[in-house]
Amino acid sequence: MRNQIGTAVLVLAAGGPAQADAQTVLNLKHKEHICSFAPDEVLDETLYSFASSDEARALVADIMSTVGLVPRFTVFAANVPNAAAVIEGEERLIVYSESWIQNTIANNRWAAVSLMAHEIAHHLNGHTLEAGGSRPPTELEADSFAGFAVGRLGGNLQDAQWLFNQLSETGSDTHPPRSARLEAVAVGWREGSAGRTAPGSAPEPPVVMRESADFILPQSTTRLLTAQDLAPLSLADLRLARNEIFARNGRSFQSPDLQAYFASRSWYRPIAAEVSLTAIERENVARIQAEERHR
Ligand SMILES: [Zn+2]
Repeated sequence: MRNQIGTAVLVLAAGGPAQADAQTVLNLKHKEHICSFAPDEVLDETLYSFASSDEARALVADIMSTVGLVPRFTVFAANVPNAAAVIEGEERLIVYSESWIQNTIANNRWAAVSLMAHEIAHHLNGHTLEAGGSRPPTELEADSFAGFAVGRLGGNLQDAQWLFNQLSETGSDTHPPRSARLEAVAVGWREGSAGRTAPGSAPEPPVVMRESADFILPQSTTRLLTAQDLAPLSLADLRLARNEIFARNGRSFQSPDLQAYFASRSWYRPIAAEVSLTAIERENVARIQAEERHR
């Protein structure tokens, strides 16, 4: 899975069919359009990128849901120190180190939320469109959104600040000192936690470490499905895969067999009988339906 590339996502963004290749090489010529998480981070000019894991994409979707937006980013694992927001041509990229996430914060899901939310904020706030890369004011805006996302998704202030407590006390030309960043996180967290839809309900961290094996078609929400994706599936599996797209958006089901099947999936959280799908998801539902009729 990780040896596939992100090109599939790039191609998809252009409206063409998804394809699988070897890894993609990104040449970052406009290094000033890079916002990173920590000071003294130097990105190599050439990044070797890999398809992001399902958990990373799910994480980005969770964070975007806090502001009611659909992710419009290409998320790559790549050889970066931890994470960065990058503009490459017309593409808004978030690159992150899978090994850093796995080794450093695998047991702290909120730290992963903080990190990714920080990078997402750089794109949402247009920082990556400005020349100059990381600057203290834009870093604090990104930190504040990290706190907001953790608060909105149900984490406490300690969860939101944990990652920032790992930073060095002093800042740099590009990044403010730790005390300022902790304060920015706290301000964002207060706003995010105040807007929680169900205050008092026991918060559950977003599931970062999702087992891709737990999905019939792990990529059905992130890229267009191909005939090759669908060919190996039985008719019964196609039906489950089609409903899986709705289930991933929290749909509750009437059919007892679908109820039982999705109840056994660790990621499933039924929310409503009607859920809205993204354009990609709607197209994938149509493609699976067409394949079901064709059998
Ligand atoms: Zn940053």
